[in-house]
Amino acid sequence: MARDKKLIIGNWKMNLNMHEASLYVHQLAKLVKNHRDVEVVLAPTALTLQSLSLQINYRQFKLAAQNFYWRDMGAYTGEISAAQLNGIVQYGLVGHSERRHVFNESDKDIRAKVQAAIRNNLRPVLCIGETAFERSEGETAAVLHDQLIGGLANVTSEELKEVVIAYEPVWAIGSGKNALPDDVSQAVRAIRSQIKHLYGAKSAEEIQVLYGGSVTADSAKAYLDLPDVDGLLVGGASLDAHAFSEIVKKAHKGSSLANK
Ligand code: PEP
Repeated sequence: MARDKKLIIGNWKMNLNMHEASLYVHQLAKLVKNHRDVEVVLAPTALTLQSLSLQINYRQFKLAAQNFYWRDMGAYTGEISAAQLNGIVQYGLVGHSERRHVFNESDKDIRAKVQAAIRNNLRPVLCIGETAFERSEGETAAVLHDQLIGGLANVTSEELKEVVIAYEPVWAIGSGKNALPDDVSQAVRAIRSQIKHLYGAKSAEEIQVLYGGSVTADSAKAYLDLPDVDGLLVGGASLDAHAFSEIVKKAHKGSSLANK
C-alpha cells in the first residue's frame, strides 16, 4: 500500500463480545465514508473475526488478527495460525507490547510470526517501542534498532513491501500519556534510518510507519500531520465507534472540516 494512503487500525484487545462487535461494525459503517486516501482496519478478538468477515464490506474496512501462532498447522492446542486466518484477515499484529510484556514473546517468536504472516498473505504490523525506563536511560533508538533487527531478520526487501511498522512506546499504551509529536517524529526518523541501513533508501522511503499510544480523536491530527507518520494504531479510543470514526475522518485529507 502506497504511503499516500493513511492506515488507521483499531485494536479492540480482549473487549467486545460477538453481539457488541456486530453492533459496533453496523454503527461504524454508517459513520465512516469510503475514502481512497484512508484504509480502516479493525482488529477484534479472534472469536469474532469470522462473523465480522461476513458482515463487513471489505472495500470499507479490512480485518486484522491481534495475534496468531507461527506454525501453519499441527498439535498446538489453543492456537490459531496465519494459514487459518488467510482469507479472513488482511493484516496481523505482531509483537504488540502486551504480547511482549504480558506473554513474554521474544524476538525469535516475533520474527517467526512476521514470516508466517508474509507466507500466508497477511500484512504483518510489527509493533516496536521502548519502555519508560529505557527512554529515561536514553536507549530509545537502540531499543528500536534491536527490535527491528529482531523482527525483520530473514525478511527480504521484496517481502518488506508488505510489512507495516508501528511505533508504540510501551509507556504510552493504555496510559493516557500519549507521546509528544516531536518525540514520535524523532523515533520514526530513527526507524526509517535503520530501514535505510538494512534495505536501502527506497525501502526506507516506502515503508509505512504508524504511531500508537493513547491516541484520541483530539490528539490524532497532530500525529497524522507528521510527514513521516503514515497512520495510527488505536487501542482504547477504537472501542467507541463514534470516537474511532472521528479519528478516521481526521486521516482523510479532503475533509477540511474534519481536519480542523
Ligand atoms: C494499542 O493497543 O496498540 C494502543 C495503542 O492502545 P491505546 O490506544 O489504548 O494506548
